[in-house]
Amino acid sequence: MTTMTRFPVMSSRTISELMPGELPEVVMPSCESRPILRGQTAVVTGASSGIGRGIAASLCAAGANVVVNYIGSDSAADEVVHEATHCGCAHRGRAISVKGDVSDEEQVSALFRRAIEAFGTVDILVNNAGLQQDAPLESMTLAQWRKVIDVNLTGQFLCAREAVREFKRRGVRAGVSCSAGKIVCVSSVHEVIPWAGHVNYAASKGGVMLMMKSIAQEVAPWRIRVNSICPGAIRTPINRGAWETAEAYQDLMRLIPYKRIGEPEDIARLAVWLCSDEADYITGASLFVDGGMTLYPGFEAGG
Ligand code: NAD
Repeated sequence: MTTMTRFPVMSSRTISELMPGELPEVVMPSCESRPILRGQTAVVTGASSGIGRGIAASLCAAGANVVVNYIGSDSAADEVVHEATHCGCAHRGRAISVKGDVSDEEQVSALFRRAIEAFGTVDILVNNAGLQQDAPLESMTLAQWRKVIDVNLTGQFLCAREAVREFKRRGVRAGVSCSAGKIVCVSSVHEVIPWAGHVNYAASKGGVMLMMKSIAQEVAPWRIRVNSICPGAIRTPINRGAWETAEAYQDLMRLIPYKRIGEPEDIARLAVWLCSDEADYITGASLFVDGGMTLYPGFEAGG
């Protein structure tokens, strides 16, 4: 078995040793990974950068075929498809990119139609696409409020609805997975931590929490599992300002008891496991991957 060489493997430098300001390339999962998702198809939204890109690569390495949804540049999405698949290892999944806005009902339907056309069905949805449009409350425009709710919350609803329709239509596939489908919502620590200056974002993630749990309750009898991953601070383009300079990075560390920023692969590892049958009895859960950000770090020294 070979380990991929085109992308840097972080073992030479631990992730905590990366200089602030360095945006690491996605660490490509080793081809020795067990293909625990072989034969399954995953749609990953907003997958041309950051966490979605890392999740797409890891799902592919675990044997899943992956639909890389994106809204920005075609070339970034093509690069993710190439990264995820180019080693040609026999048990690695295949990947395609499909452009589409998750907040647009028609485009979401088209995304799932294309996925089913390409790979036959959909077994996994990773609801990852998201954005921030920050402003103090008194100057936040209705357009900023609506945009964030539309993408972060309504987008997750539209994609979950399409996925559940397909999961129910098809049911459990014996020998592929013991569940009829899995949905992973990428939420945030801000589904529970209030965030001044970001009320639209925090409201969207708080909404994702109860949307996820309500869908999980509704679809569990069909053997469909729905969970959330709640990242803390992960080094991606969305929060560049929080880690780009040494000062910003040190400031960020006040909020992280584990004293390092997270990387996309910290999230991707959990996503793969959560989508596998190893997590078969887990549904309706918000799993925090945050280096302790939700542990009230202000009390670190005893309060
Ligand atoms: P990112 O900006 O790299 O990724 C977000 C992706 O969503 C981008 O590729 C963007 O093009 C895409 N997107 C935006 N609007 C879209 C739309 N309408 N339709 C389809 N795609 C769209 O940032 P990221 O950190 O990788 O964010 C991924 C998810 O993780 C988001 O939901 C974000 O809220 C969540 N999150 C990130 C962090 C963090 O610290 N990075 C922490 C908590 C939660």
